[in-house]
Amino acid sequence: MSASDVVVSAEGLRIWYGTERGPVRAVDGVSFELRAGETLGLVGESGCGKSTLGRGLLDLLPEGSKMDGSLRYQGHDVLAMSTSRRHALRGSDLAMIFQEPLTRLNPLMRIREHFEEALRTHEPGVGKDELRRRSMEVLRRIGIPPTRYESYPHEFSGGMRQRLMIALALALRPAFIVADEPTTALDVLVEAQILEMLHDLRSEIDTALLLITHNLGIVAEACDRVAVMYAGEIVEIGDARDVFRNPRHPYTRELLRSTISLSTTGLHYIPGAPPDLVEPPSGCHFHPRCPDAMTVCTTTAPPVVESAGTLAACWLQSPGAIPAGAEEPLRRREISDADEA
Ligand code: SF4
Repeated sequence: MSASDVVVSAEGLRIWYGTERGPVRAVDGVSFELRAGETLGLVGESGCGKSTLGRGLLDLLPEGSKMDGSLRYQGHDVLAMSTSRRHALRGSDLAMIFQEPLTRLNPLMRIREHFEEALRTHEPGVGKDELRRRSMEVLRRIGIPPTRYESYPHEFSGGMRQRLMIALALALRPAFIVADEPTTALDVLVEAQILEMLHDLRSEIDTALLLITHNLGIVAEACDRVAVMYAGEIVEIGDARDVFRNPRHPYTRELLRSTISLSTTGLHYIPGAPPDLVEPPSGCHFHPRCPDAMTVCTTTAPPVVESAGTLAACWLQSPGAIPAGAEEPLRRREISDADEA
């Protein structure tokens, strides 16, 4: 791997939008790199900023949203590009696969017309025969018979429609795809097929894939690396196997404990809910829910520390940097305060 393999890189990326109560900091200083042929899983509870980040990377944010920091696509500064240049990138080099394909496919257009529109928008010079040949090739590759080329979206099952979305995204051979919960609405068998298809196609055309999901099982199966998001920040990022085997951040650990598997004997959940992103808690945003929180966590944001290739933002990773007297466990103190009351 070299620097030239990096397809997307973000450094201190922030995305926010205004409300009457103040700015909602949906993405708050996120940094990561994604290389050609690599899949990064983005996990976390709902409301932690995963989808906003995915949309921000593709310039698909709702009107009124603001973004700053650094975002580079194949070395080019995306935030310095003109709007028209950014739009030109989308679709030809960047693509998004959404959770509910039916809302993204036009019910009045045949599959052929969807392909024609996608390809002609980004490659105006493409001829009719070439367009048909490429559309057929992609359809065949994802297991949809070419005889369905003239069908309408409603004539397909949910799994087939998701395949169509993937086919449309891949017809342009994009360098970067964001897939936002692409299998959430599907049954487990179809889910497995879609994941396998994404995996095959990713290796075939060397696409970098950001896979947004709340399902840690999918990440374990389909991703090279994983980024864990909480309250708009990436709190841990590293090799997926390493992170799952040895989570360094308490939020990652609690998420993993909350996952149901065949060996689950009792249900575990993280008490409380992700914070209000207008006024997140001071210090480490996870401190009100963290079983390991210390006094320092309530006042001071933890540094990001690297250990064996994994980055984690937690005071437990740098105990030597905690000011004297601020390492007292918070939960124990709360419990004893409650006892005294
Ligand atoms: Fe928990 Fe403190 Fe680490 Fe935050 S910094 S995850 S509150 S121990």
